Amino acid sequence: MYIKEITLTNYRNYTKTTIPFENKVNVILGENAQGKTNVMESIFVLSMAKSHRTSNDKELIKWDCEYAKLSGIVEKHRGPVTLDLVISTKGKKAKYNHIEQKKLSQYIGSINTVMFAPEDLNLVKGSPQVRRKFIDMEIGQVSPVYMHDLSRYQKILQQRNQYLKQLQTKKQTDLSLLDVLTLQLSEMAAKILKKRFEFLQLLQQWAEPIHKGISRDLETLKIEYKNSIDVSEDADLSKMLEAYHQKFDKIKSREIDRGVTLAGPHRDDLLFYVNEKDVQTFGSQGQQRTTALSLKLAEIELIHQEVGEYPILLLDDVLSELDDFRQSHLLNTIQGKVQTFVTTTSIEGIHHETLEKAATYHVEAGQ
Ligand code: ATP
Ligand code: MG
Repeated sequence: MYIKEITLTNYRNYTKTTIPFENKVNVILGENAQGKTNVMESIFVLSMAKSHRTSNDKELIKWDCEYAKLSGIVEKHRGPVTLDLVISTKGKKAKYNHIEQKKLSQYIGSINTVMFAPEDLNLVKGSPQVRRKFIDMEIGQVSPVYMHDLSRYQKILQQRNQYLKQLQTKKQTDLSLLDVLTLQLSEMAAKILKKRFEFLQLLQQWAEPIHKGISRDLETLKIEYKNSIDVSEDADLSKMLEAYHQKFDKIKSREIDRGVTLAGPHRDDLLFYVNEKDVQTFGSQGQQRTTALSLKLAEIELIHQEVGEYPILLLDDVLSELDDFRQSHLLNTIQGKVQTFVTTTSIEGIHHETLEKAATYHVEAGQ
């Protein structure tokens, strides 16, 4: 799929602008604070109905304005799709092919984007929470069932934690309620774990060769899922459930002492190894960036596999940080199949081969 055109009305520092794009590399060129990231963000918001930078929608509305509007035309295999999103202080309204969507969840995912911005380095360097969010968002993009299980898990977890807090202060002999909550939690935990293992196997399959390519065959990327139970990633659901039962049995008294749930997917993490060394601890800046980039590029392939079309790739302030080889390798792999947006403050930062094949846009003060 590719975006043919976007119209920004009262969006960030744009008053009213229509920008036609091309189905190739689109270079957004401009000095600092002119509106490059805002354009990238607007394409992301058009697809996800929320920003990658902020959870506060009001920030997207141009200062002193009542609302912001994004309209886009996206060309898909089955034909063109028109998307309209209005963001006001009262909430968001979305239209798909001019028809208002009752629920935003029906609208989200009509088009797919993959964003890679500087803050994505946190995928490697940041806290486990960032990595769990990454897994959950990725699986969620293609599996509504997963999102449902996840929110159910979070609800039970909250109840269980509250109850454990109570038990911590006043000792009780009857623990039947805790046992019920533990059973419910284990059931959801096993489902989530199973899905995460499946997703990570696919991610590993795609990310490893991509990483090898970008690093001139010098680096092997391995992804490891760190969790609290001892079970192989190919185990079936009943084995995973059994393992959670055993685990919670074992840590019961410790959980009551501490007043909190000590095992489950909400405490798991991802570890990345390059040539068998932990990248978070030992990786150079470039290696960490390459790792994050490989994961994002793998995501492109996973989306392609699930929805049958390539998503739109948004690279904000990323390309000029890569050396010439990594840059041209990256662009060669996506050339011709993925519509790509890159931002830069200077044309010098972009490899000449890329520029020759690209459409270039100059941004100045929201114009
Ligand atoms: P850099 O090269 O530094 O990354 P950029 O071109 O990506 O710059 P943007 O992040 O797109 O810059 O921001 C452009 C301008 O938009 C900034 O000056 C910012 O203050 C302004 N801006 C952000 N939000 C709003 C808003 N809600 N209303 C008006 N202007 C805004
Ligand atoms: Mg920017």
